[in-house]
Amino acid sequence: MYGTEQIISGTIIAGPELDPIEGYICVKNGIITEVGEERTYSANIIAPCFVNAHTHLGDSVCKDPPLGNASGFRVQRDLDSLVKPPDGLKHRILRETSYKILIEYIRKSLLDMIETGTCAFADFREGGVVGVAALNKALEGLELHSLVFGRPTEPELPLGVVLAEVRRVLLHSDGLGISGANDLDMELLQEITACTRNIKKLFAIHAGEKNRSDIEKALSLEPDLLIHLTQATKKDLDEVAQTEIPVVVCPRSNFVTGAGMAPIAEMLEAGIRVAAGTDNVMLNSVNMFAEMEFMSKVFSIEDRQVFKICTLNGSFVMGPGSTGSIEKGNKANLMILNGSSNNLAGIKDPISGITKRARPDDILAVLHS
Ligand SMILES: [Zn+2]
Repeated sequence: MYGTEQIISGTIIAGPELDPIEGYICVKNGIITEVGEERTYSANIIAPCFVNAHTHLGDSVCKDPPLGNASGFRVQRDLDSLVKPPDGLKHRILRETSYKILIEYIRKSLLDMIETGTCAFADFREGGVVGVAALNKALEGLELHSLVFGRPTEPELPLGVVLAEVRRVLLHSDGLGISGANDLDMELLQEITACTRNIKKLFAIHAGEKNRSDIEKALSLEPDLLIHLTQATKKDLDEVAQTEIPVVVCPRSNFVTGAGMAPIAEMLEAGIRVAAGTDNVMLNSVNMFAEMEFMSKVFSIEDRQVFKICTLNGSFVMGPGSTGSIEKGNKANLMILNGSSNNLAGIKDPISGITKRARPDDILAVLHS
C-alpha cells in the first residue's frame, strides 16, 4: 500500500551475491528502506523476482504446435518450419489471428508471468507497429517492467519503405529485435541499426542459435543485446566478452528445438553477463522456476549462478533502476516463498532449494514496484 511501511520477516536472499540472512526488510513506497538481521522463526523465504529476458509473447496464441514429423519412434525437429519468418508456423498463425484475440492471449501470458514470480521481461514482438501496439495494450495496468523490441513486417520491400516502417515501430517500442543476421540483407541491417541508434533506442538480435554462421555478422552490427549463442565457440565468447554485450540464453527452448546446449559455464568464465529467457510461448511456458530447475539440473553450473542468471543478471538487459537485488535503496521487486510448504519444508540451503525445486505454488506473495 502506498505511503504505509511493510515489514516482512524470514530468510532473505540478500544483496548482489544472493547471501541468505535471517532477518527482516522494510518496504515503503515501493523502495526497500531497511534490511536487518535478527532471529525471526519465520519460514518465509524472501527472494528477488525473476527477469524473463527473452520472450516471444505473440506465440501465446499457439501453445501446442506439432514439434516435427514422426519417423518411427523419433520426432524430427525443424526450428525453421516453426519460427523462421516469414512462413514458419508461428508467422502463419499470427497472420490469421485477430488483433483482439492476440491481445487477450498475450495478456494471459503477462498475468502468468506475475503469478509465477516475474517482475520484468524483454520481448521480441513480430508484426511491426500493430504487433508492438498489441503488446503495449495487453500491458495496460499491469505492474511489469518491460522492454518491447519490434521489427519490420516486410523487409524485402524497397529500403526507403522499410526504413519508414522501422521509424514508426521505434516510436512505439524500446528498440528492434531482429530474427538473425542471415535472415536480412546486411546493408538493410546496417541501415536499420543506424536508424535505431540515431534515436537512442536498443538493437537486439538472435545469433548462433542453430549454428555459428551469423555470429560475426551480428557482432559487426554492435548490438545492445544478443540472444542464444548456443553454438558459439570459445573465440566467439571471448569476442563477445570484450564488447560487454549481455547475452540471453534460452536453455529449454534450445532443448525443444534441438538447437543444442548453450555454453553457459564458458560464457560465465569468459566474463559475459548472462541472463535467461523462456523464449517462444509456443515452446515453453513463461514460468521461470521451470527454466531455473532445467538449467540447474542439465548444465554444470553452480545453483547461485543459475539463480543470478534468472533474477539479478536480467538488470543488465532491463537497464539500471528497473530491477535489482534486495538491499536498502533498491526497488522492492521480490517474492515471498513458503519455506514450510509441502514441497520446500526441510530444505537446508535456500539457494539450492529454490533453484532446484521451488514452484509457483510455493509463492505466498509477490511485491512489484
Ligand atoms: Zn527468440
